[in-house]
Amino acid sequence: MVSKVYVNGFVDCCFKKYILNQMKPNRRFFCLSSIVTNDFNEKDYKFHYLNSNVFQSKSTKDLIRSFVVLKTSSIGRFVDYSERMFLIGEKIIWAPLFRWLMKSTYYGNFAAGETVDEAKATADKLKTHNVLTMLCVPIESKKFSSNQEAEFEYEKNFNTVLRCIEETAAIESNGFAQLKITALCDKELLVNANKQLEKYQYSHNEDENWDIRTVVDLIKSCQYSKIKLSGLSDESNKKFVKLLSYLDKLAQHSAKHGVRLMVDAEQTYMQATLNYLVLVLQAKYNKERHIVYNTYQCYRKDTFKRLQADHNLAKNLGFLIACKTVRGAYMVEEKHYANKNNISDPINETFMDTTIMYHSVVSYLLPYIANKEVSLMVASHNEDTVLFVKEKMAEIGLKNNDRNICFGQLYGMCDHVSYSLGKEGYFVYKSVPFGQINETLLYLVRRAHENKSVIQRTNFEILLIKKELIKRLMGVKMIKS
Ligand SMILES: Cc1cc2nc3c(=O)[nH]c(=O)nc-3n(C[C@H](O)[C@H](O)[C@H](O)COP(=O)(O)OP(=O)(O)OC[C@H]3O[C@@H](n4cnc5c(N)ncnc54)[C@H](O)[C@@H]3O)c2cc1C
Repeated sequence: MVSKVYVNGFVDCCFKKYILNQMKPNRRFFCLSSIVTNDFNEKDYKFHYLNSNVFQSKSTKDLIRSFVVLKTSSIGRFVDYSERMFLIGEKIIWAPLFRWLMKSTYYGNFAAGETVDEAKATADKLKTHNVLTMLCVPIESKKFSSNQEAEFEYEKNFNTVLRCIEETAAIESNGFAQLKITALCDKELLVNANKQLEKYQYSHNEDENWDIRTVVDLIKSCQYSKIKLSGLSDESNKKFVKLLSYLDKLAQHSAKHGVRLMVDAEQTYMQATLNYLVLVLQAKYNKERHIVYNTYQCYRKDTFKRLQADHNLAKNLGFLIACKTVRGAYMVEEKHYANKNNISDPINETFMDTTIMYHSVVSYLLPYIANKEVSLMVASHNEDTVLFVKEKMAEIGLKNNDRNICFGQLYGMCDHVSYSLGKEGYFVYKSVPFGQINETLLYLVRRAHENKSVIQRTNFEILLIKKELIKRLMGVKMIKS
């Protein structure tokens, strides 16, 4: 029996009451009418994208690769053991053969290439489908044996992002470069600062030492040594200031090259710090243009409140909000952390609650996008959410090609969604990792762990690829006979 969960009319009714209770006066709510998991057939699929022929333009070789890669990646156990398998493969398989194998399969499917030229070729290929490229370098937080080694690595990562900004500028005008702040500093520092900052998440200007306006003024006048944040040791303050200076340079470099800096959201136990850092950058750089983007994870119960607080701060300090909305990648880890530390779980109770939060957040932002105050990337593979946003855009009169709203998906996945959006004239970006095979593969494996649920919901895409492959096979047979 095909297992499918369609939360349709009946469930809509049951949830409507619950949802209405949840709504704040101004909050608009839109009910998710279907959730699709596991197997289903195309006829049942409620969201017939523009066309299911989006794969026609892909070569048969690329289609077979996508089919094999997505099919194997959708096996939970495969994802669980993939890091070990890649590491063993790397050791026992002849290096050139291993490289070729990876380039022809997983790396080739999910990454842009090792060099700028290869990344550019991938971007050009995507452009033929009206899909844009958002480069992402495989850097992330690690454990180090000494302070010196850590500092060296942070500086290296900082320079890598600087280059990524330049490479983005060479590929796209007004493109995005992605940044994970945890790759630039000690995680402990972010966690400690978080303890000071989490109480100000819902209303910002309470602590003089951490006052964003003051910090921005000190950065502007290059008086970094005067930045002393309460609750942090002298050593931590020095590290914090160093991090601020890295981030300031990255934002400055982005502004200079006409690139938008997209900062990722990470775990709740350090997200208040990351949010604070992004707000400092936005207060300095987002005066007239949307240069620095924040990320809001809608699986958190408090996202709407945090967004409103940030928006109020932006109005008070006179800067523009720019952000990416996501559901959130660290759900399992967050729940485990909350359990272990005996704190309340920050994550929504159900998937439906997360969707309600996502749709409420987008609905709140859309009118501000219409008056050019806010810029938004809707980063989701979820067809319901994409369809919802499209409908809401049309409702408030936002054009498909409005520059202040775009969609984002991961490279190598959900092409049927991305290509359809591109075809309809929306701005749509693929997040494309690029870099050396070995380090990119390990980076991809870790992202696959975080996005296990997305990989496992690629059934519809696999079905479309299969359909296209069968069509081609039949075509060859007919010509032969
Ligand atoms: C371009 C891009 C950038 C991204 N950047 C970030 C980032 O900066 N930070 C980050 O954390 N993630 C990021 N992600 C990942 C993102 O948060 C999601 O993990 C991923 O996109 C899956 O969500 P979805 O809407 O695409 O798909 P769906 O399959 O519809 O949603 C799956 C998600 O729903 C949520 N969920 C599932 N079950 C439940 C439940 N029982 N209760 C509550 N919630 C549930 C989880 O967040 C899960 O990941 C990014 C994704 C993309 C495409």
